[in-house]
Amino acid sequence: MCGVFTYYGPKTNAGEIVIQGLKRLEYRGYDSWGIAYKNNDKINIYKQVGKIGEINSDDLDLKPSQVAIGHSRWATHGGVTQINAHPHSTENNEIVLIHNGIFENYLELKKQLEAKGHIIKSETDTEIFAHLVQEHNQTQDFEDSVKLALKEVEGRYAVVLMHEKDNKVIAARKGSPLIVGVGENNEYFIASDIPAFLPYTNKVIYLDDNQMVIIDNGDLKVLNTETHEEVEKRIIEIDWDIESAEKGDFPHFMIKEIMEQKDTLSRAINQDPKTIEAVAHEIKNAFGTYLVACGTAGKVCMVGEYLFSKIAKKHVNFSFGSEFPYHKHFLTDKTLMICISQSGETADTLEAIDVAKKKNVKVVAIVNVESSTMARTADIVIPIKAGPEKAVASTKATTAQMAILTLLAYACNGGVKHGQQLLIETAGKINDMLNPRYEEHIMQLAKKIKDVESMYIIGRGMNYPIALESAIKLQEVSYIHAEGFAGGELKHGPIALITDGTPVIAFVPNDDTKSDMISNATEVKARGGYIIGVSPENHPVFDYWIKVPDCKDASPIVNIIPIQILSYQLAVLRQNNPDMPRNLAKSVTVK
Ligand code: GLU
Repeated sequence: MCGVFTYYGPKTNAGEIVIQGLKRLEYRGYDSWGIAYKNNDKINIYKQVGKIGEINSDDLDLKPSQVAIGHSRWATHGGVTQINAHPHSTENNEIVLIHNGIFENYLELKKQLEAKGHIIKSETDTEIFAHLVQEHNQTQDFEDSVKLALKEVEGRYAVVLMHEKDNKVIAARKGSPLIVGVGENNEYFIASDIPAFLPYTNKVIYLDDNQMVIIDNGDLKVLNTETHEEVEKRIIEIDWDIESAEKGDFPHFMIKEIMEQKDTLSRAINQDPKTIEAVAHEIKNAFGTYLVACGTAGKVCMVGEYLFSKIAKKHVNFSFGSEFPYHKHFLTDKTLMICISQSGETADTLEAIDVAKKKNVKVVAIVNVESSTMARTADIVIPIKAGPEKAVASTKATTAQMAILTLLAYACNGGVKHGQQLLIETAGKINDMLNPRYEEHIMQLAKKIKDVESMYIIGRGMNYPIALESAIKLQEVSYIHAEGFAGGELKHGPIALITDGTPVIAFVPNDDTKSDMISNATEVKARGGYIIGVSPENHPVFDYWIKVPDCKDASPIVNIIPIQILSYQLAVLRQNNPDMPRNLAKSVTVK
């Protein structure tokens, strides 16, 4: 959530570089954006409400500059207004900063600062930090002032600061991602995510929590924010290519990423079997295993509960990251926690890990971003290898995460090869399924239902969480009211919502849920529901049939794909931007 970007180097168009970097980070927040750059020892700030995507930097009349910071905001404190947009500053733009995260004690600090005469212009939690630094700056230099201010704030944050009268750029992190890119000729970038500076460099330094970086005329040092001791950091070369982080010929990242599922499943299962077996060993020996995640990854965990029950004959518990701390009383050093997160930066799940670690719980992370905080905190990491996922609505990461849980469930039952075989066949079937004719067939449905107010999705067993995940996809990008239910639950209440023509998606795989699902679909049809069957075979109860291949225990993986496509198409037909749905942002780094 929220993108921060900084340039410090020999080029003289720092403002322009920051604007381009922010465009690549926009998926992280798009309420407002802003930049600050230094020209002739004066800091200029430009900020505005809305998306940065359409901005032409030539229109901004940027002056030459070799240092600039920028931010695209996902508002947490204070409305979406120009005054609340970052960068924030003290009077006359003396100290300027950008911030991702939340300063939890900002109200208290604000009161103290106002009592000392500071005029706080915005409603954000962010601005107080600039004033806090200014307060210390009366007696200390810029660097020491930032060090002191960092000790006073509570919460999770990534900050970058500039000072009008000091050449340094100072950044710090605690709980929110911050990565340094190291270019040629003393050129540095600081960003929330790597794709932002990938056109310039693939050499990175990962900052850890409680670390700050100080860049001063081409020199870079990293310090521990508690002890202020210098920390030795490695420069790592990463092998991401720019293309995989760009849209290419696709109109949106979302459809590009849906289509990439032709390959991503095969990549996900191409794991070192030793890692999968090591985690299976942990699951078998644990006294209680928790699957922990948020949002879509949470629904993947719920699929996991069914997979482990059916394939591994193992009971595992699911908890949302934000709810997990309330289970802490159950945790012991025999508990195993398996966390799933695309970005590996999900604040709620990271906080759950903190709680678990205090009880000596062993942590496994299933992540897409291998360099993420979660991956670096976990005891064992399983990368899903889906490549950069930029659309806010997760698609390819979701199916890759399910593939990993399927593999793990089989590995617990000694049959990792069987799991791999099933998933290889599934990958082949997905490859055949994802063709223009298939998309067109779903588009016919999208056109039929695009103006409905509500729709419902039902599934049983391991496809019940897929009904929930389908609802998330539809809500996120089409903004149609959608709710998922267990097939058997409709008659206990929600069936009252069905009226003539209400679309109801029913997942009917070839498994032990089939006949009950047909009965549930028939009950809905008897009340006027328009039944959209997602199934390997057609059935008279279906008003519209979306064929999916028969993939046995991998049915959740194939079943979600047509609903991803449908959600995307509904978004486009309803003139929503599927890559940047309202009120949302990728990588939820706030609690
Ligand atoms: N809390 C800050 C704000 O509301 C930063 C939010 C973010 O991470 O974008 O402006």
